[in-house]
Amino acid sequence: MEEKSSSKTRGKAIQCKAAVCRKPGERLVIEEITVSPPMAGEVRIKIICTSLCHSDITFWKMKDPPALFPRIFGHEAVGVVESVGEGVDEVTEGDIVIPTLISDCGECADCRSKKSNLCSKLPFNISPWMPRYESSRFTDLNGEVLYHFISVSSFSEYTVVDICNLTKIDPAIPPNRACLLSCGVSTGFGAAWRTAEVEEGSTVAIIGLGSIGLAVAEGARLCGAARIIGVDTNPNKFELGKKFGVTDFVNAGDCGNKSVSQVLNEMTGGGADYCFECVGSASLVHEAYACCRKGWGKTIVVGVDKPGSKLSLSSFEVLHSGKKLMGSLFGGLKPKTDIPILLERYKNKELQLDEFVTHEVQFEDINKAFDLLIEGECLRCVIWMGK
Ligand SMILES: [Zn+2]
Ligand SMILES: [Zn+2]
Repeated sequence: MEEKSSSKTRGKAIQCKAAVCRKPGERLVIEEITVSPPMAGEVRIKIICTSLCHSDITFWKMKDPPALFPRIFGHEAVGVVESVGEGVDEVTEGDIVIPTLISDCGECADCRSKKSNLCSKLPFNISPWMPRYESSRFTDLNGEVLYHFISVSSFSEYTVVDICNLTKIDPAIPPNRACLLSCGVSTGFGAAWRTAEVEEGSTVAIIGLGSIGLAVAEGARLCGAARIIGVDTNPNKFELGKKFGVTDFVNAGDCGNKSVSQVLNEMTGGGADYCFECVGSASLVHEAYACCRKGWGKTIVVGVDKPGSKLSLSSFEVLHSGKKLMGSLFGGLKPKTDIPILLERYKNKELQLDEFVTHEVQFEDINKAFDLLIEGECLRCVIWMGK
């Protein structure tokens, strides 16, 4: 890729390469596209590297709305600011930034409260547009609009992101580690740290040991949990989980005639203090709720189920058990405050990030990243844009 200095491109459209998905489930095609300059409140960034998250795959396969094509996926990334739109003074050309699917305007009631990370000025949604203007910054060479994905669209050499969805970071952090905090690791780690507020000496159960579940374990470990029970159908996940603090393993496919919750209730003498559902299945939320301890137990929903799925809990049991059921989007983290804290903990060798990166590929091999994640042995595959 030809090096473009900011001063030459500022205010102008940029032509660059992007991996475009034209139809659901089809291989991405690297095409020349045009990226418009940022509008007021927006920032154009040059992506350094991006990684593939399961939500990209979910929407890549999806045939019905909110799925829309042609689209540029990708939402876990790190980049460098190329130019800023009017009114943006929080970042400047050359700053290293992490885009996030949730926004942090700092002004609305939610952003001002310690109790929420669900910005109400630019609320999270699966829109195909930029969050403030309902328009796209991408076109293909025929002038056809290409849709955005959850406010990031990082499978492009250049993308435009709202300043509310960008966090400036320490440039000393290696980009192939920093990008993990753009979605997956933050979501899991935050669910333990910010949403559940896991206490020292407590018992934690994690259903689903994919990268999000392992990041929950990492969060619980750093919060001082004494026992971290991982539940998965793949027994290989136990060895892997040990690196992130998992102390016990339950093979969900091998519980005999008992349910997972029965096994966990027996192991813990009445339930875990915190139960995390990281698969995205309503029936597993029921299992998690059934094995969290009465009185103070918390069940945290981290996994994403189909939009129409419902929970069915006995109101009698809810009343009599005193358990809490909580949802955790982006781990309850406020990106601009919490991502720098996590990166500092990585620099201090507390938070483990290296262990999550199992594969790295060049941009032209982006479809290989999809294959690797679907095959299931990959935690995170980092895709380098121009190395
Ligand atoms: Zn994600
Ligand atoms: Zn806000």
